[in-house]
Amino acid sequence: MKVELLAHTRDADAICAAAGNSCYSERSAADIVGDIDSERVLSRIVGMGHHSVIEHAVFTFSVEGVSRALTHQLVRHRVASFSQQSQRYVSMERASYVVPHTVEGDPEAMVLFESTMDSIWDAYRRLESMGIPPEDARYLLPNGCTTNITITMNARELLHFFSLRCCNRAQWEIREIADRMLEICREVSPVIFRDAGPPCVRGPCPEGKLTCGKPRR
Ligand SMILES: Cc1cc2nc3c(=O)[nH]c(=O)nc-3n(C[C@H](O)[C@H](O)[C@H](O)COP(=O)(O)OP(=O)(O)OC[C@H]3O[C@@H](n4cnc5c(N)ncnc54)[C@H](O)[C@@H]3O)c2cc1C
Repeated sequence: MKVELLAHTRDADAICAAAGNSCYSERSAADIVGDIDSERVLSRIVGMGHHSVIEHAVFTFSVEGVSRALTHQLVRHRVASFSQQSQRYVSMERASYVVPHTVEGDPEAMVLFESTMDSIWDAYRRLESMGIPPEDARYLLPNGCTTNITITMNARELLHFFSLRCCNRAQWEIREIADRMLEICREVSPVIFRDAGPPCVRGPCPEGKLTCGKPRR
C-alpha cells in the first residue's frame, strides 16, 4: 500500500482562519491573511461549529496497491471525489491481490488463499484468450484484487472520514490508509487536524456496547 499527498491547499490553516475571520471583519480574507493568529482564530471559529470554514482547504491523495474491498468502503464517502483504475480498460492479467494479515499468519489458510487466487487468475487469462473482453472477464475477480485510486476531500470531510475510519472498529485496511492520510494532513495543516481521529481522541466513545475499550488518546 502506498499513500501519497499529490496536492493540497497551500497554507491551509492560515487560509481557513482568514476566511473565517473575514465573516466578522470589514477587511477581506486577502487583507487579513498573515495578520492573525491562525491557531487561536480557527480554534474559536471551528469550536463554535462554524465548520464550513475548513471546506476551503482541499487535499488530493494518490493511493496505490489497495484492495477493491477497501475502495468499496472508501467510495461510500459521498462528499469526496474519486478516480479509480478501471477493470474495463485495464487488463488484470497479472495476478495482484492483498493478503490479509490473518491469512498471512496461518500457513494452511495461506495455501488455500494462494491456490484459489491462482485458479481465479488462470480462468481470467483463459477467458481473455477466448476473446472475452476485460470488462466481462473481471466478473471472476475477487475483493482482494489490487487497485489504485485518487481521492480528493476537503478538510471538513477529512475530519469526518478520520472520525469514522481511524476508529479501532473500522476495518483494518481502511483504518491503515486513514491513519496514514491523517499523519500526512497533520504535517501540512497542524491546526485543522490537531484533534482529528476517532471520537475517543476528543472524549468518550459513542459506540456503546460495541466499544473496543482501547481509547486512542
Ligand atoms: C465501522 C463501520 C461499519 C460500517 N458498516 C457498514 C455496513 O455494514 N453496511 C453498510 O452499508 N455500510 C456500512 N458502513 C458505511 C457507513 O454506513 C457510511 O456509508 C460511510 O461510513 C459513509 O459515512 P457518511 O455517510 O457519514 O459519510 P459521507 O458520505 O462522507 O457524508 C458526510 C456527511 O455528509 C452528510 N450527508 C452526505 N450525504 C447526505 C445525504 N444524502 N443526506 C443527508 N446528509 C448527507 C452527512 O452528515 C454525512 O455524515 C460502515 C461504516 C463504518 C465506519
